[in-house]
Amino acid sequence: MNAVTVQSWLTAAAALLREQRDYLTQLDAAIGDADHGTNMDRGFTAVLAKLEDLDGAPPGKVLTTAGSTLVSTVGGASGPLWGTALRRAGRALGGAEEFDGEQLAVALDAALAGIVELGAAQEGDKTMVDALAPAVRALRAGLDNGSTVAEALTAARVAAEEGMKATVPLQAQKGRASYLGERSIGHQDPGATSTALILAALEQAVAAER
Ligand code: ADP
Ligand code: MG
Repeated sequence: MNAVTVQSWLTAAAALLREQRDYLTQLDAAIGDADHGTNMDRGFTAVLAKLEDLDGAPPGKVLTTAGSTLVSTVGGASGPLWGTALRRAGRALGGAEEFDGEQLAVALDAALAGIVELGAAQEGDKTMVDALAPAVRALRAGLDNGSTVAEALTAARVAAEEGMKATVPLQAQKGRASYLGERSIGHQDPGATSTALILAALEQAVAAER
């Protein structure tokens, strides 16, 4: 995997987030302020515009630039959180031209750690962490069991979707949805939903290379 893989990932993520923008906003209308779809779409559209200037840059640099772009273009909580995640992932990859499954797992672990450091959410708090944490564990477990990166990423995407669905019965403990208290119960978390899409984009990008 290399910078083209990361470019494909971000491009696929932008496409999925554009496609699901209204759905994500509806989810946020139920337990937030109805801007999650527009936030993520605005951020990833800005990332796409930046990618053209990044031809020839190493994968880590593509990710750190994408992260900074999200931080500067998204007003909601999700911008700084995913922005920090991509910056940390990029920093973990460093200046290398290529990376393997192991390095990808380390990078996604760093992304998760960045989100947790900034937002202080634990699993079960009904946030994006509920999708990303099981995905990172599934990627690691798959690689440890001898799966290919593509197979391990499918397992990671499935785990993210399961984590996303499991947010429905939870009461939000972090972010805007937490202001609703018990009324946040019964709704799927928007950030966990967009996170599952970002994992699906990564799965697609890596699968397309085989
Ligand atoms: P805002 O809440 O500022 O309007 P968004 O609507 O774009 O921002 O994003 C909301 C999502 O952000 C939530 O669904 C949740 O997944 C995520 N989120 C909010 N606060 C936190 C936090 N402290 N840690 C992790 N994720 C969070
Ligand atoms: Mg919102």
